[in-house]
This record gives sequence, C-alpha cells and structure tokens, in this order.
Amino acid sequence: MSNTFDLIILGGGCAGLSLAARLAASSSAGFTTLVVESRDHYTNDRTWCFWGGQLSSGEHAVARQWNTMRLTSGAQTVLVDCGQTPYQMLPAETFYGAAISAISQAQHVSLKVGTAVLAAPGKVDGNWRVATSAGVFSGRMVVDTRPQQTPKPDDALLWQSFYGQEIECDRPVFDASCLDLMNFLPADSIGIPFVYVLPVSPTRALVEVTVFGVNPLLPKDLALKLETAVAQRVGDAPFRMLRSEHGILPMGLRAIPKNPDRSYVQVGLMAGGARACTGYAFQRIQRWADACAKSVVAGFLPIQHSPDAAVLQAMDHLFLNVLRTNPERAGALFCALFARANAARLIRFLSGEGTWLDYAAVVAALPPWPFIKLLVGRRATRVTHQGAGQNA
Ligand SMILES: Cc1cc2nc3c(=O)[nH]c(=O)nc-3n(C[C@H](O)[C@H](O)[C@H](O)COP(=O)(O)OP(=O)(O)OC[C@H]3O[C@@H](n4cnc5c(N)ncnc54)[C@H](O)[C@@H]3O)c2cc1C
Repeated sequence: MSNTFDLIILGGGCAGLSLAARLAASSSAGFTTLVVESRDHYTNDRTWCFWGGQLSSGEHAVARQWNTMRLTSGAQTVLVDCGQTPYQMLPAETFYGAAISAISQAQHVSLKVGTAVLAAPGKVDGNWRVATSAGVFSGRMVVDTRPQQTPKPDDALLWQSFYGQEIECDRPVFDASCLDLMNFLPADSIGIPFVYVLPVSPTRALVEVTVFGVNPLLPKDLALKLETAVAQRVGDAPFRMLRSEHGILPMGLRAIPKNPDRSYVQVGLMAGGARACTGYAFQRIQRWADACAKSVVAGFLPIQHSPDAAVLQAMDHLFLNVLRTNPERAGALFCALFARANAARLIRFLSGEGTWLDYAAVVAALPPWPFIKLLVGRRATRVTHQGAGQNA
C-alpha cells in the first residue's frame, strides 16, 4: 500500500465510515482514500435513532421502527402518532458491518484499524503529514472526525449525557408498540433527567437515563437512576443485561473548530454534527457525507457541516437557555410542544428539515412566558450594563 493518498480520514466512526462508504461506492477509482481508526475492532457500541421515511438497506438498514411515542411528565402523558415518519432504530453493528464491507470491496479506499493518530497533522511540501501508530501517511486533504478528548462544561450551552442498558427479560414486560421518548423525573442538582425506553420486543428493551445539564456526566453519575428505572420497568421479572451504552452529546456548541487551510476540515459530533436542540447527529452526518463525497469526487475540497440557518440557531439557543434557567419546567415544556404541535411539522423541525411554517408551528405550541421572561431579563441586564458603563 502506498503511503500517499488524495484524502486521509482521521477516525472511522459514524462520520468517517459514512464518508468512506460513499467514496467506496463512487466510480472515481483514481481518487484514493485512507481511513485511520484507533479501535482495533468494532462492537455494537451504540443505537442510532432518528425519524425516517421508508425502511432503508445497507449501512442504513433499520432494525426496528415505532409509529407511536410517549412523553410523560408528572401526571401528564402525551401520545404522539409519528407514523408518517416513524422513529427508527439502527444498531451500530449493522452500520459498521455494511460500511466496512463496502470499503473492503473498493481498491481505492482503505481502512486501517488499530491505528491511532499520534499528533496534530502538519503540512509538508503541500501535503498533510499524518503520524500514526502504524507509520506516517501523507494526504492532499484531511477530514478529521476525532472528537475532542474531554468535553468541558463551557464548551456547550447544555450537555446531554446518557447511560443505558439493553436488557432481556424472562417474560413479557414491555409494550413494544410504543417507545418512551421522554419520561421525565424531577429536575435535580445534575440537571433535567428523563428515562428513554426503546422496547424492541415485549421481552427486550434499551432502557436509558438521560440528563440535560450544564456538566457532562459519566456512567457512574447516572448508574443509580438507571438501576431504579430498570427495576421500575421489569418489576419482579428476571432479566439479564445484554450490553450497555453511554454518550455525552453537545447541545449548542459554543465554537465549531475551523482550520484556516480549507484542505483540512473538522467534522462529526464535536464539530457541528449535532443539532443543538436535540444532540442528534446521525442524519446530519449522513447529509454531510453525501455532500462531502460529491465535493471531493468532483475535484473540490472537503466540506464541513453546513451551519443551521440563523433563525434556527436563535430558536435552539433560546430554548436551551430556557431549559438552563427553568429546569423544573422542562417536562411541561416538552409535553406542551409534543401535545400541541402538528407531529409531522415538529419532527421535520427536530430533524433539521423544517420550513418557515414548521418553525412557526413550534413557536405557537410553546407557552410564551418562560421565553418572554428570559428575553426581557436579558434586555434588562444589557440596559443595566450599558447604564453602568455610562456611569463609570
Ligand atoms: C451511545 C451513543 C448513542 C447515540 N445515539 C444517537 C441517536 O440515537 N441518534 C443520533 O442522531 N445520534 C446519536 N448519537 C450521537 C452521534 O450520532 C454519534 O456520537 C456518532 O457516532 C458521532 O459520529 P462521529 O463520527 O462524530 O464520532 P464517532 O462515531 O465517535 O467516531 C470518531 C472515531 O474517531 C476514532 N478516534 C478517536 N481518536 C482517534 C485517534 N487519535 N486516531 C484514530 N482514530 C481516533 C474513534 O475511535 C471513533 O471511531 C449517539 C452517540 C452515542 C455515543
């Protein structure tokens, strides 16, 4: 294998493999790509969910979908019919397996697993020099998907931390026709906790505790809540744990990294891949991979995630700030949103495919007072600061 490539992708996770699989399927055999991935094997380490259309195939072959989802807060329960765009579940092992198989069939794309990038790549004689645990590689362009190592509180408006277990019970305990999107627990010092349950069958489910909070949380911070949530759902039914998953997703990243040299782009979860108000990233990453593959195959530079429209960014940030300042109202706010907004409009909005009418439907569904209070409070603070500045 030559050590020089047109494109080097750092990290073969969701973003890296999504791009590499598209390049493998493209006919531009003259365009060579290397994916450098530090893990030495892939496991079923996560479950991707999103609202989708028809059932897909290949690396997007969903394993399960639901037409009804439930939100609960205190005594309030909202059932949402999402049959037009069902909530779909894609196990990571399906995605990884299909992407790796597509890459292995293409001579112009190589995946090197068990290979860690050791230092920040530098440019030498017009090419990026990437030092890895398997030697030095050189590329005209780099797509860097590596997440930053430790998320820091100030890096995002809120963090979505979750810890879940997929469990199999000895007898039926789950209603497999309806998923629990958000079952709110009382807000506490770590943030806004809720339980998320994906009932794969009457005996099997992924039960997850999620917290929207100002600090990123580790499994140990969520373990007790998860244990309680599982116990409440299985009752006295014997069960075994099949696997666990943990994640920390940014909600409203304060800065998106950008390299001044446009032949080196940073993408993925920690570089604009996640939608601010949901933390969901899978579909945005797929849209980016489509566009980026087309760009490089056509002879152009790789691209970053497209930023959301300014109005969407403003809406997301206002909503996240209301959650930050009113954590005890979060359950009621989400229930109001899902109860009052037209489901198709809301789902398009949450999936980043909304129109102006969808944005308006979301605004109309939310109780105005927490938002007005926040905006008025901010204005008053600005006026006070200006006044203080003039007096100084
Ligand atoms: C458990 C979990 C569940 C999620 N569920 C959903 C969901 O339901 N819906 C949704 O939309 N989003 C979800 N997400 C968010 C998002 O879709 C995923 O995090 C997604 O994997 C992000 O893709 P990525 O390529 O940015 O990062 P990753 O998939 O994490 O890929 C980054 C890759 O870089 C590699 N790497 C890191 N350092 C190095 C190095 N030095 N050298 C070489 N390789 C390196 C890593 O091993 C990894 O494979 C979830 C995230 C997690 C963690």
